[in-house]
Amino acid sequence: MIGIRIKLILFTSMLVIVIGILSCLFFLSHAKRQQGEALKSFGTSLVLLLAQDNEIKHALHSLQPAFLDAPIQRIRELDREDEIGYLRVSSGWAVMFEEKASWLTVDMREIPATMDSPKPTIIPSRMVWTRGGSRTVGEKPRTSEEPRHCCITLDSGEEFCDFVTPIFEKRTFSEEEFAAQILGEGGVAEGEIQPILGFVQIGLSHRKLSERIHKIIWQSIIPLGLCIVFGGICITFFLTRYIVSPLRHMADITLDIAKGNFSRTVDIHSRDEMGQLSVNFNQMTRSLRALCDEKEKIMTQLRDHINSLCHANKELKDAQERLLRSEKLAVVGKLASGVGHELRNPLGAIRNALFILKKNSAYPGMSTDPHKANHLLEIIGKETERSIKIVNDLLGFSRTGKPTVFPAKIHSILESSLSRLRMPEKVNTVMHLEDSLPPVLVDANQIEQVFMNLIQNACDAMPTGGLLTIRAQREGGDFLTITFTDTGCGIPDDKKNLIFDPLFTTKPKGLGLGLAVSSSIIQRHGGYIDVASKEGAGATFIVKLPVAASQRSEAAVSSLQK
Ligand code: ADP
Repeated sequence: MIGIRIKLILFTSMLVIVIGILSCLFFLSHAKRQQGEALKSFGTSLVLLLAQDNEIKHALHSLQPAFLDAPIQRIRELDREDEIGYLRVSSGWAVMFEEKASWLTVDMREIPATMDSPKPTIIPSRMVWTRGGSRTVGEKPRTSEEPRHCCITLDSGEEFCDFVTPIFEKRTFSEEEFAAQILGEGGVAEGEIQPILGFVQIGLSHRKLSERIHKIIWQSIIPLGLCIVFGGICITFFLTRYIVSPLRHMADITLDIAKGNFSRTVDIHSRDEMGQLSVNFNQMTRSLRALCDEKEKIMTQLRDHINSLCHANKELKDAQERLLRSEKLAVVGKLASGVGHELRNPLGAIRNALFILKKNSAYPGMSTDPHKANHLLEIIGKETERSIKIVNDLLGFSRTGKPTVFPAKIHSILESSLSRLRMPEKVNTVMHLEDSLPPVLVDANQIEQVFMNLIQNACDAMPTGGLLTIRAQREGGDFLTITFTDTGCGIPDDKKNLIFDPLFTTKPKGLGLGLAVSSSIIQRHGGYIDVASKEGAGATFIVKLPVAASQRSEAAVSSLQK
């Protein structure tokens, strides 16, 4: 990750470099233009000075080069920078004087001279000076112009700014005209005839110009660039000091706060946005600390609550265990008293009957009346059956083994159940069984026990007699539905949920295991048992058993058997 400090430094450096380069280029081009202008006006004034000099005119008139010495010496004195590369004075047809600077290695012949006609006789009246140089016109020359200048490059690579101006014979300039000439604002009046005596040619070296520009670069532009760089460094330092450092400081503190250390604060006291940010930051830290304290307090309270809840839970568990233990004891007690009570009566009756029979048989003279003996034996048999039922109920309830299922006909199971019970005389039994009912896949003995229990309960519910209707039909594909409907007392709504619970009974001599055992047996068969009843309007017990042919039922039973 590139830090904001590096980004800032990179950005500022780029900015400084761009500004520096642009400024240097601007100053360089400005300096070049200025130096070029200066060179031009210097060259122009030099050639004009020479062209106006009377001694030069005299020298050209009389063709006496000696008269040239004094004006040329004056020009040399003006050239303090040693810029003049060459100087040439020529008449119309011949060079009268030429000189080159000592530092110049080229030959003067390489520099073209301004001489347009080889014969002096016609020159004065036929030469006209124009911007492009002299040209021959008719008998009457028409006009004259300011000096011309152009750049020439020699074979050696040396560059010169070449200034040439004609020397007119009679023309003399007033001071104002001379100044206008120098400034390039005026020239010879239109129509004035100016016969040409010769030419002055001066070459100002570009080398000197370049040297001056180099000097400017070294003395001005490079210091300027350095100033800009220094300024950039100062700006970067300022930005880093006033923006990045506070941000880093804040980042450090944020890290500490994230670790939970709220004691640190930001110490920036400036009156700008940074100062405001630090104030807000400290405010936020204080709020966070308050929130954390609050959270800590709540957490402590919560921990206390949890501890007390754990304690209460433990106490509750203990109490639950105690309750369960006492409930179990109560159930065992209830069961023991129920079973004991139930068994005591038949066993007592059997014992009494046996006692009478035993007593009568002990005394040979007191043989028992056969009718009475039969009655006593009947009592013994009946009470023994009752005792067996009680024991069977108990065994059925405790039995958890899987049923041994076989396809069985529901008719035979129902008939067997009815035959094993002694139905009260006042109770009529009607059976509606559909023809060709499929066999059910059940343990016939266990289902018989269920049916006997339901029929017995129906009889118990109709102590004054009534009608018991038994129906068997196939509803849906996989189950056979058998219903036992009586016209007895019915079951109150608040008891409906309880009748399948073990040990629930409303009968004075009941054990409360019959329906619990029946429900458990039906469930183990993958079937279903339910009751529909209204208090005082009888009850209907519905039993659903799996049909033997059904694959689904087999799968259900086999899964149950597993
Ligand atoms: P028990 O017959 O020993 O009481 P059960 O579990 O067989 O035990 O029956 C529980 C209770 O369900 C009965 O005491 C009775 O109140 C109620 N009950 C069962 N069958 C019927 C019925 N057909 N009509 C009314 N009440 C019934």
